[in-house]
Amino acid sequence: MLPSLSPTLQSLLSWIRTESPTHDAAGVNRMMDLVAAEVADAPIAVERVPGRQGLGDTLVLRAGPERDEVAILLMSHLDTVHPVGTLAKDLPLRLDGDRLYGPGVYDMKGGAWLALQAFKEAARKGSASRPVVFLVTPDEEIGSPMTRPLIEDFARRSAYALVTEPARDGGKVVTSRKGVGRFEVQVEGRPAHAGSRHQDGRSAIREAARQILAIEAMTDYGRGVTTTVGVVNGGTANNTIPQHCRFGVDLRAETLADGEAFSRRILDLKAHDPDVALTITGGMNRPPYERSEGIAALFEHARRLSAEIGFDLRDVPRTGGASDGNFTAALGTPTLDGLGIDGDGAHTLEEYGLLSSIEPRRKLILRLLETL
Ligand SMILES: [Zn+2]
Repeated sequence: MLPSLSPTLQSLLSWIRTESPTHDAAGVNRMMDLVAAEVADAPIAVERVPGRQGLGDTLVLRAGPERDEVAILLMSHLDTVHPVGTLAKDLPLRLDGDRLYGPGVYDMKGGAWLALQAFKEAARKGSASRPVVFLVTPDEEIGSPMTRPLIEDFARRSAYALVTEPARDGGKVVTSRKGVGRFEVQVEGRPAHAGSRHQDGRSAIREAARQILAIEAMTDYGRGVTTTVGVVNGGTANNTIPQHCRFGVDLRAETLADGEAFSRRILDLKAHDPDVALTITGGMNRPPYERSEGIAALFEHARRLSAEIGFDLRDVPRTGGASDGNFTAALGTPTLDGLGIDGDGAHTLEEYGLLSSIEPRRKLILRLLETL
């Protein structure tokens, strides 16, 4: 199978064959084993931080000069959104021209893999300009609840953060992302028989419907704010006034101020019906990643390096999807994201990475490690 690939690329294939959805700690840990094995013969220190809350382990890989100097932080996640069995059924590993299909190849095993090759080369040659910390995490796809403190701790001690999320639209990198808020709204009404005691009931679904319309109406494309109610659960039977209803809210905002302002608006919502109780929990999960002067300068530097390598590096307009880069950028660490493999179809069964994008992007990361 896939005979045309080089021996080096076979290790990427074994990564993709190792299914690692976030909540399958054993699968994620098998990925961490593969990474640890791959750096075993390089001058790289491996620290393994055990997972908690049913999540997999984290790897902290260190290389570069042992000077007491702020580091370059490289970040990749090895969890995916694809359940075990996707590989056998819906998204088999296959090569179609330049496209390598498989679960997690684009988001983001391809990126993690090419960054690891660059990191290994810099470690072997001793060519990194600063100490390099490569953080390989198991929980990005669920918002990094476990690794966030670790990421922030390293970000505070790093001069730059480089994130290997997928490239966009033909190889573009990411220099800003919206922030994300998550909320859970619980509505408690009063149940009653829909036929004989209708007037006694207080419908939780009716109240939820009004709240959902109010929340969705907060969307303001011009301001870069969106609100989405994506999942609703409620009611017990068709002939019963519903006692319970709950729904989740996804908020995206471009600025810290808007993130806070709209979080407040959602948390402050009041029930229209005095006999219905509304309980709202949540808040901003990932702060906005705003394109600071430091980030613009980092991008310009990467652009010059890319020109030397032989390609024209561009960045995308602010993207709605968040990543661990949001955490590092919000702390003021200049952050460049989207350094991973080019391709398309993240989180879908059409996910693929472009093999031809691996080498130029590996070189770009290597040159960043050597020149920042
Ligand atoms: Zn990702």
